[in-house]
Amino acid sequence: MAGIYLHIPFCKKACHYCNFHFSTQTNHIQAFVDALIKEITLQKSYLNEPIETIYFGGGTPSLLNELQLKKIINALYTHFEIAPVIECTLEVNPDDLKSSNVVAWKQLGINRLSIGIQSFQASALAWMNRAHTVEQSHHAIQIAKKAGIDNISIDLIYGTPTLSDEELIADLDWIEKYQIKHVSCYALTVEDKTALKKLIEKKQLEEVDPEQQARQFELLSSRLKKIGLEHYEISNFAVPGFRSKHNSNYWSGVPYLGLGPSAHSFNEISRQWNIANNALYIQSINKGQVLFEIESLTTSMRYNEYMMTSLRRIEGFDLEYIQAKFGDKILEHCLLTVESMRSKNYFVKTSKGHTLNSEAKFLADGIASDFFILTTSQLL
Ligand code: SF4
Repeated sequence: MAGIYLHIPFCKKACHYCNFHFSTQTNHIQAFVDALIKEITLQKSYLNEPIETIYFGGGTPSLLNELQLKKIINALYTHFEIAPVIECTLEVNPDDLKSSNVVAWKQLGINRLSIGIQSFQASALAWMNRAHTVEQSHHAIQIAKKAGIDNISIDLIYGTPTLSDEELIADLDWIEKYQIKHVSCYALTVEDKTALKKLIEKKQLEEVDPEQQARQFELLSSRLKKIGLEHYEISNFAVPGFRSKHNSNYWSGVPYLGLGPSAHSFNEISRQWNIANNALYIQSINKGQVLFEIESLTTSMRYNEYMMTSLRRIEGFDLEYIQAKFGDKILEHCLLTVESMRSKNYFVKTSKGHTLNSEAKFLADGIASDFFILTTSQLL
């Protein structure tokens, strides 16, 4: 089985913290959609397995109209073998969600909505420079539920300097009230080349406080678990049966094809990423060429990536898998690394290997880097 990711690189407004690839020049959407459909035909041989997940991400995929979405989905069904039952996710911003849209999306086979709520607090939305209002967030969830879409994920951002613990608790109250099945929670990060970084440097916005972020992570993690959502990945919580299949497949090393500017693809032996420039993307596709960079994945790169993703997941890492995929030397290195951290009590044993305890989860990326190797020859 495999997955397809489609990157829709347009947004109405630039959020201060965002470092994804997008443009606010929405007058180019139709030219982009035409190019995307051509890319589908150009890339039809990349995957040799049936597709079980399709994910429209961005950017803001909900800026596409019904006809544009329909043409893209039809092209996917024409050129790929799509499994009879699939998970098909559309990322939507609350201000785009209307009753008529949801009905059309359902008819097109979209069965999961990922709504970019981020916060139910007006001050936090203003701080982030989001395009939507709190009222639109409530309205969006109510419309989606009324239309019978049960598989709803919402994104939340915590650790924004203006967000108090009480406000975060109020956000979590809404999640409980709406019985949301999946929540992705991200700590606000200050990325290079973002408006946020510049505004902080000019002292026009407050700095992020790591202690507040750690405290709010703990707060939301314990509350979401209490209301029945499983903390299945460091940033993701789901009611049993509602994990994101698409993202879970990424983390398990399932192949995927990324379409659109900046989209990444992976086929177990290499990773490639399309050019992150809308105009050049459209131009090259119209000439029948996909512009991308590619890197071959060495054993050490694949092992490092496995450690990074597995330590973020509830299941942790699997020692038999490490031995089978990466060999005895890497297994030995992995076990020695666990031993070297014994005094820190980060790990909990599982039937297959080890996972991080809930306090250590917040440190997962740093802990994973202690397992990394540069080359397999360093272990000989
Ligand atoms: S809507 Fe999403 S992709 Fe667009 S600017 Fe905001 S965070 Fe970035």
